[in-house]
Amino acid sequence: MFTPVSVLLLYLLSLFSLQADVYKDRREALVKRHIEGRGISDKAVLDAMRTVERHKFVPQDQVSQAYEDHPLPIGYGQTISQPYIVAYMTQVIKPKPHMKVLEIGTGSGYQAAVLAEIVRKVYTIEIVPEHGKMAAERLKKLGYDNVEVKVGDGYKGWEEHAPYDAIVVTAGAESVPPPLLDQLKEGGRMVIPVGPAFATQSLMLIEKRKGKAVTKNLMPVIFVPFTRSEKK
Ligand code: SAH
Repeated sequence: MFTPVSVLLLYLLSLFSLQADVYKDRREALVKRHIEGRGISDKAVLDAMRTVERHKFVPQDQVSQAYEDHPLPIGYGQTISQPYIVAYMTQVIKPKPHMKVLEIGTGSGYQAAVLAEIVRKVYTIEIVPEHGKMAAERLKKLGYDNVEVKVGDGYKGWEEHAPYDAIVVTAGAESVPPPLLDQLKEGGRMVIPVGPAFATQSLMLIEKRKGKAVTKNLMPVIFVPFTRSEKK
């Protein structure tokens, strides 16, 4: 028998699932138009972009913008990157299920989640403690058990778990931090925006061959600056 309470519950349930479908449709449209439509072709990357719920990585007042292809403010002067750039940087490191990846600049945790859909393990470092803590909680709640977040200065990398198959840096550095190159596996790939703070940077792909960095300029980008806790 339908009691008023069960009718109300059914109504609320249908509202929730309707909402979920709306986000799914918007995500699909974003991927079709801006990710696949602009040349991202790695199936694993496209699947990850279709799966990760970007609206759960942005502040409440930005949720309506979550499936637009641009960066959004996430507080403390930081941003969640543009979806196309996240997909591009993920594709460029050639992610495979066996890989262990280091990310510098956890921010909202979105890029880490996209990586975690594809690779075995993601280590990610964030310098703003509030973001680090929030992202760690969010990733845990969403079930990303293969991501470990650390609050600290990513300049030094994360020696304990090195070497990494790939490194993704999501803040604009003035130059490539030498410890990151040291912690990259031979044959590994690093993607990093390099250039002066508050100006256009160049997104660079660095491949480590015989211990040396072989670099390639990919495209101009604008990321928030790579900051340092101490200049050492
Ligand atoms: N990958 C993020 C976007 C990050 S924005 C996402 O998907 O949401 C860049 C982040 O890098 C910011 O949160 C900033 O605080 C952080 N950051 C800047 N310099 C850093 C450093 N030296 N070490 C670790 N994180 C840093």
